[in-house]
Amino acid sequence: MKVYFIGAGPGDPELITVKGKKIIERSGYCIYAGSLVNPDILKYCSKDARKYDSASMTLEEIIAVMEEAKAKNEDVARVHTGDPSIYGAIQEQMLELDKRGIDYEIVPGVSSFLAAASTLKQELTLPGVSQTVIITRIEGNTPVPETEGLEILAKSKATLCIFLSIKEINKVVDILKPVYGAYCPVAIVYKASWKDEKVIISNLNDVVDKTIQNGIKKTAIIIVGDVLSKNFEYSKLYDKHFKHSYRNKS
Ligand code: SAH
Repeated sequence: MKVYFIGAGPGDPELITVKGKKIIERSGYCIYAGSLVNPDILKYCSKDARKYDSASMTLEEIIAVMEEAKAKNEDVARVHTGDPSIYGAIQEQMLELDKRGIDYEIVPGVSSFLAAASTLKQELTLPGVSQTVIITRIEGNTPVPETEGLEILAKSKATLCIFLSIKEINKVVDILKPVYGAYCPVAIVYKASWKDEKVIISNLNDVVDKTIQNGIKKTAIIIVGDVLSKNFEYSKLYDKHFKHSYRNKS
């Protein structure tokens, strides 16, 4: 018996890994993060699987279901949105499983910031512009360490992928404008890869108004950075004047 922490991907039920889907199909239990996991993913469950929406459960209740599965020698598909390692609250679940000697494994998933980049048809790391992607958030119920405040991260001028912060878009803009400049491009992707996905392409000056006009209040990624302006140098990777270990002939 094992508990599998599975990344369900950003929404589109075809964006789960083959491995994750197979585990869901054969598990007797499925505990899913109902607030964000697309219900279509649950169609992969076997008809006899016991399903639990973790959105309304406490950690103790989640662990109790996992213990019950262990007693019955049944696998558990613990389905998280995107990739479980990003704001997934899996560490405490794993710690509790360690205490109980319950075996587990993680199956990665496509994080929503990657789905957002795909929607935008955008490379996040452009030569001459930015070679760094920062995943961060504005403080909410969960505090952000002082040394990681957005005003500090902004100094790098790296590509920012800001999770869990769309409600605070005002604050994000106020912090970033002095460093990135009022006309730095911003993209907001709401429900990337879902059927009701929405995209706003804007800049730090206008993005707050556009977000309000579009009624976007949750489930969105904010991407900020000059990569979105697409002024960049071509990569050396496919440059005919550049040789590397896979292409020695010019
Ligand atoms: N583990 C998830 C993130 C969970 S935190 C992942 O890897 O994507 C929840 C936040 O993720 C949301 O507030 C939103 O910022 C973002 N999010 C999740 N799914 C999204 C989607 N399909 N499109 C845009 N943002 C999404």
